[in-house]
Amino acid sequence: MKKHNFFAGPAVLPDRVTEETIKALQDFAGTGISIAQISHRSKQFQAVVDEAQDLFKELLNIPDGYSVLFLGGGASTQFAMIPYNIMKNKAMYLNTGVWATKAMKEAKRFGDIIEVRSTCEKFTSIPKDFEIDETADYLHITTNNTIYGTEIKYDIDSTIPLVADMSSDIFSRPIDVSKYVLIYGGAQKNLGPAGVTFVIVKDEILGKVERAIPTMLNYNTHIDKGSMFNTPPVLPIFMTLQTLKWLKELGGIEKMQQMNQEKANLLYNEIDRNPLFVGTAVKEDRSLMNISFLLQDKYKHLEAEFIEFATSKGVLGIKGHRSVGGFRASTYNALPKESVEFLVGLMQEFEKKHA
Ligand SMILES: *Cc1c(COP(=O)(O)O)cnc(C)c1O
Repeated sequence: MKKHNFFAGPAVLPDRVTEETIKALQDFAGTGISIAQISHRSKQFQAVVDEAQDLFKELLNIPDGYSVLFLGGGASTQFAMIPYNIMKNKAMYLNTGVWATKAMKEAKRFGDIIEVRSTCEKFTSIPKDFEIDETADYLHITTNNTIYGTEIKYDIDSTIPLVADMSSDIFSRPIDVSKYVLIYGGAQKNLGPAGVTFVIVKDEILGKVERAIPTMLNYNTHIDKGSMFNTPPVLPIFMTLQTLKWLKELGGIEKMQQMNQEKANLLYNEIDRNPLFVGTAVKEDRSLMNISFLLQDKYKHLEAEFIEFATSKGVLGIKGHRSVGGFRASTYNALPKESVEFLVGLMQEFEKKHA
């Protein structure tokens, strides 16, 4: 049976990425040995890192003066590494959910935090019109809230340096990188497998704090050594490169954005039309990547039945995050439109049976 992969992360990747990876695991770049069994300092692997960095810069239109790094440790290590490297006394955090809260918790170890929190208890909207504290060293935002299905779908204007966790929406829309000093994320949502973390950092913001930074947690270490200070996550970087090549061939980020919009429209329209379901996020902040929805109160008892029904038809990963409940369909770049159409069909079938 065909599977439709709606998992939130690790998540769906283009088939081509899997195919190229299988080949490279057997015979990497004509070396006759596996990519998992060759030095990261071989010229064949150096070419992979170089091409991945170049494609990052090309596809995201990254201006001069920024470095692209591929590191280990996940986005969660960045939560600490960012304040370690760039926070002097104080930083501002836009708290839009669990990940933002975790980022803030780490930053508190390094100084004072000014928190801007969404007024709705369950993080169903993004705070807007808040005042920026000019004395803060930076403003940290989480552009896509993977758990709640809310997203900041534009580049906000900030009068202080802007830092963004883009773990779950990087490469889903064009961004103006010049508006940020640092963008980071784990690859495993929209870019590659688990194991590699990307960081796009403006070089001139570094080296300005007084504290001593451990070598591995210092961005300058990795900039100086081209992400090769220590052994980098070789296979995840290779797979990320394959995804970037796929994205470029498909037509680049603008094309991706258009396809993501189409997929999200299909599903949101059905959620709004179907009397059984209701969306969780406020409409203007709805994510194009993670679509969260519930059963209407009257039908709440059918939750397990819908999951079971969907699973029996090959739809995987739509159970909502444990802190939100209900359902979450992650519609990342690599998810085909047919999978969304299929899910919509199942929602309509379910409606016929129960409404
Ligand atoms: C998944 C996720 C993280 C955590 O990433 P790890 O690589 O597991 O540390 C952080 N932020 C956001 C927005 C995420 O979706």
